[in-house]
Amino acid sequence: MNNDIRVVKFGGSSLADASQFKKVAEIILADKRRRYAVPSAPGKRFKEDTKVTDMLYACYDLAESENSGYEKIFKEIKERYEGIIEELGLDLSLEEEFKKIEKNFLAKAGRDYAASRGEYLNGIILAKYLGFDFVDSAEVIFFNEKGIFDLPRTVKVLGDRLSKLSFAVVPGFYGSMPDGSVKTFSRGGSDITGSIVARAVNAEIYENWTDVSGFLVADPRVIDNPVPITTITYKELRELSYMGATVLHEDAIFPVRTAGIPINIKNTNAPEDRGTMIVASADDIIPPYTITGIAGKKGFCAINIEKDMMNSELGFGRKILEVLENNNISFEHLPSGIDTMTVLVNENSLNGKAERILNDIKNAVNPDHIELEHNIALLAIVGRGMRRQRGTAARVFAALAHARINVKMIDQGSSELNIIVGVSDNDFEEAMKCIYAIFVDTVEE
Ligand code: ASP
Repeated sequence: MNNDIRVVKFGGSSLADASQFKKVAEIILADKRRRYAVPSAPGKRFKEDTKVTDMLYACYDLAESENSGYEKIFKEIKERYEGIIEELGLDLSLEEEFKKIEKNFLAKAGRDYAASRGEYLNGIILAKYLGFDFVDSAEVIFFNEKGIFDLPRTVKVLGDRLSKLSFAVVPGFYGSMPDGSVKTFSRGGSDITGSIVARAVNAEIYENWTDVSGFLVADPRVIDNPVPITTITYKELRELSYMGATVLHEDAIFPVRTAGIPINIKNTNAPEDRGTMIVASADDIIPPYTITGIAGKKGFCAINIEKDMMNSELGFGRKILEVLENNNISFEHLPSGIDTMTVLVNENSLNGKAERILNDIKNAVNPDHIELEHNIALLAIVGRGMRRQRGTAARVFAALAHARINVKMIDQGSSELNIIVGVSDNDFEEAMKCIYAIFVDTVEE
């Protein structure tokens, strides 16, 4: 690990306007180890504002389908960047860049190309403002023919390139395909770029700067003022992100994970806050609570299947999963009993296919009974602290029982890192509240 290098990624709200740019520059320049910066495109300046990325998608769609009518949004996008340049007092013109972009839009360069210009242009401005070199991500971040991110090739080329530059800006969100065309990650993907850059330079730490002071133990839309999470492991975070915690893109962990580079979530608007530290292992840090976090999602559906003697029927589970595979549906959980099996799937994925799947399962395993149960919410109660603690499950279920919430499903992974509970969508908020209360509000011994 290189103790002199920190990679810093700044999200869209951190770079939404000139005053935010000033805060960002102050943060970066305050520490010489912050050598490589990864910007997002300008985000929302206020609640009703539109992110530049969304403006670019809308603009491109108009340019592609109608060849005209796009000019108004194009002008607005241009003005946002020009406003930032002017207010920062930079001697920089993006005129030529915008001409090229317009030409490429009309030549149907693709939606990914269009969206990527948000970070590309912001990168040029940030580099100029900081006096850093600018590296176009299309030259150093690669996807393979199938559109899958190519980590080994990227680490080599990007690592070589940055080893020759003391300070550089690498725009987030995109890279290139083998034919040279631009490809983006999924939305929020600048987090992934930051992680890739940290890996390529073997950074001491990857600082991910956003507009909140890290992860919270529970969703603030459900719980008033939940306590922050100070330290969390990659594995715990993976469980929580999958279940809806959205501060960091869920794929941002992979590039740094194998190298053991910690990620520090920090707040651009409150830089002195400690934020959340995401680490490979936290065995030496006693967590403040048995649970590290609770997250959850609504909108699941259970396929309940019953058949006498199912347990002894070889290949029963395989046949059911095969039906799902053939219908292009992935399952979330698979709790089973002696003569029953439940497959939990995302409700949306069943869209228009439910009838067919039930029929296919009937044909495949001839069940005694099969039914769909809709409107299920899943809650993941996650924490490395569970491993050394007895009675965690008992506390969860006592709390739910006390709140008169009916538990529809339970699943505890063998890692003893999480307990997943299925409840009715209507009980979701209440379930989160009572679990939070029992672990966090009640003083633990
Ligand atoms: N600008 C892109 C988005 O809005 C990527 C990012 O901000 O991470 O999704």
